[in-house]
Amino acid sequence: MYFTEEWNVIKGGSKLQLLKQKVLDEGIVLSNQVLKVDSFLNHQMDPVLMKEVGREFTRRFAGEELNRVLTIESSGIAPGIMTALELEVPMIFARKQKSLTLRDDIFVEKVYSFTKQETNEITVAKKFIQPGDRVLIIDDFLANGEAAFGLARIVEQAGATVAGIGIVIEKAFQPGGRLLKEAGYRVESLVRVAALDDGKVTFADQD
Ligand code: 5GP
Repeated sequence: MYFTEEWNVIKGGSKLQLLKQKVLDEGIVLSNQVLKVDSFLNHQMDPVLMKEVGREFTRRFAGEELNRVLTIESSGIAPGIMTALELEVPMIFARKQKSLTLRDDIFVEKVYSFTKQETNEITVAKKFIQPGDRVLIIDDFLANGEAAFGLARIVEQAGATVAGIGIVIEKAFQPGGRLLKEAGYRVESLVRVAALDDGKVTFADQD
């Protein structure tokens, strides 16, 4: 069912509960490491769900001063733009590219891609992140933390501050969340997956 229809029929249920239900109903467990959610986040995108995701990140980071959202193409763009819309700040998406001729107007970081098993360079034009900016990093999935750490390094290269990291689906059995928190970042994950065993999704939190 399309999210809007379900949305209209929930009575008093938490909207995050519905995000979990969506993961259960539509998530495809490709292996015990990889979850595919191409019906609402990774290919087809559900704008009503993404709008609520943006609202929820805005609520969670309400106490933080923020003037930029930074994400990474392509699946981070939908949750990123909806969060930026709520916050009324610009959103920047880092571009992925394989190899690069040296340029001095971009920040570049190497990021190992969990899903593609290759190292990409991610880039952001220097003019879009300035010293003193307070940047909220948003991404669709968190696995080993490579993408989030790469984005954080770009923010720090710019002399700006990472105000927080918002993740739609954290795979809590992989170390990214712990490593980011140990590095001092505030991480907010909307859904935490404990395991993807036997083709089934199990959540970490019982709420
Ligand atoms: P990390 O960099 O934390 O190791 O992995 C996160 C990045 O890899 C995200 O940007 C996401 O696009 C991709 N990714 C990692 N695990 C999954 C997964 O299980 N499913 C999907 N669809 N993407 C994933």
